Amino acid sequence: MAMSKPTSSVEQLFTKFCNSISFPEIQQLFDEICTQLGVDPNQQDGFYPAIKQSLKHWKATSLFQLLDDRSSLPEYEGGSVCAGRRVLVVGAGPVGLRGAIELAMLGAKVDLVEKRTEFTRNNCLHLWPFCITDLRNLGAKVLYSRFAYGTLEHISTKFLQSILLKISLLLGVKVHRGVSFDEIVEPTETGAGWRVTTTPQIASLSSYDFDAIIAADGNKRTLPGFRSRVFRPKLALGITINFVNNNTAKDSAVKELGGLSVMQCSDTFATLTTDHGIELENIIYFKNETHYFVMTAKKASLINKGVIKKDSKDVQELLKRSNVCNEALADFADEAATSCSGLQNPEIVRNHRGEKDVALFDFTTMHESENASRIVERRGKKLLLCVAGDTLLQPFWPSGTGCNRGFLGVFDAAWMFRGLCSEGADPIKLLEERESILTIFPQIFAHTLQKDIAHYSINPKTRYRGLNLIKPRMDVTQLYDSDSHPATASMPMVGRVGFEEIGVSHDSSDSEEERLSTEN
Ligand code: FAD
Repeated sequence: MAMSKPTSSVEQLFTKFCNSISFPEIQQLFDEICTQLGVDPNQQDGFYPAIKQSLKHWKATSLFQLLDDRSSLPEYEGGSVCAGRRVLVVGAGPVGLRGAIELAMLGAKVDLVEKRTEFTRNNCLHLWPFCITDLRNLGAKVLYSRFAYGTLEHISTKFLQSILLKISLLLGVKVHRGVSFDEIVEPTETGAGWRVTTTPQIASLSSYDFDAIIAADGNKRTLPGFRSRVFRPKLALGITINFVNNNTAKDSAVKELGGLSVMQCSDTFATLTTDHGIELENIIYFKNETHYFVMTAKKASLINKGVIKKDSKDVQELLKRSNVCNEALADFADEAATSCSGLQNPEIVRNHRGEKDVALFDFTTMHESENASRIVERRGKKLLLCVAGDTLLQPFWPSGTGCNRGFLGVFDAAWMFRGLCSEGADPIKLLEERESILTIFPQIFAHTLQKDIAHYSINPKTRYRGLNLIKPRMDVTQLYDSDSHPATASMPMVGRVGFEEIGVSHDSSDSEEERLSTEN
């Protein structure tokens, strides 16, 4: 007789859920937990109270306590301020997920689409103190005990995504994995509101009327009606490599390199050049689930070591697949990493494709969005469009600003949405406030923010200094595109347009200090 598979208890399932870092598994376990508890995972109204009432695992109790503490902040008004409103978040990178959490706490119904089906990035993200406090307060330590362990100020991207995904799910965010956002559809005469199309098409998603779309889609920049400025600081070729961390005494003994630059440690870099023929501008080493290195290498030495086969002035040509030798790249990165850190005979991690986890990236062409937000109104229905994270301002990874500025930007987007949902909202005032912050954004570092990180919230005043002195860098009336006002906006607001590039600037808005330092 066939034995039936024993069903896991909710306790067991929730333990697995807490420990998993696999995107599909986390979702599947969550659905199973909901089914066993008799809570409908598709129910968006009242989902959080329902699961909180039924899920009694001690870790869940700790998480709910932390989430209740956060949501008791006056900014959320008990979740009533955006109640009944609907938001689409594009992208389950750290920034999209973090934003989804805030929007859910404001009481909105949140759907998030992510075109990928797995979390695969081992690369480590540097976290500023406010980010560590923020994540700790959301329960990161409950879900991942090694979070911010000792002096650790970084986390691998996939661990961070998995933590934020779990919190989002508990708060009732509907996460659509393997679904790509395509287009925005204008309200119709027959009463439909702002809709979206996706691939594959999801029946529920295409029937919802949205009040806001927050795009944190990395370098894809899919949202129409935004312009991006391209800046070309100088040729900068970044390399990342991850080695297996066996957590042995030998692994522990190797000291992290918070950020060595040729300006600060000329001797180390000179030795690397004379002994190994490797020329770097900087290198960072973080120890986490992997030994992770990110470095910027000089083109000449990449050519001399056979990594780049043929020189070209055109960066795309230079870095095209057929012009890069992956084996030589792995050897180059391995030699540079081990020489600078003293790590002995490490094994390179295999990525999800079974290939060595080493990559070469171009930081020569960077994008920065001209504006962070727009409000569009058609047939009396407003839609807020915001961009956040790498979409707003592409980071130079060795500077370690990506995730930190990403969180700040998506808090600002959530705050703006809150403003728009409030009574008597003035779209122009909201645009002015959001765009003023963008003026100072490239100069934001941990040390230029408000000191009291324990009291940061989505309210920008709790995080930025001297906001009342800052003006938007553009005339924000252009960003309010309403069919009931004289047309001002010149960009198409709907359809599959994506960002329009509006010129190239050769002087970067990232200062040299930012490019080379991770001190902050
Ligand atoms: P991302 O993390 O890039 O997330 C964007 C998400 O949007 C992606 O998951 C993408 O699949 C999804 N998406 C895009 N278009 C659509 C669409 N149309 N529909 C649905 N989903 C969509 N930073 C460092 O500091 N150090 C590093 O070593 C480092 N390595 C990186 C390696 C890679 C391959 C990438 C892409 C980024 C790396 N970064 C690194 C940058 C860092 O990951 C980001 O700054 C940080 O994750 C915050 O990004 P985000 O959430 O804004 O965007």
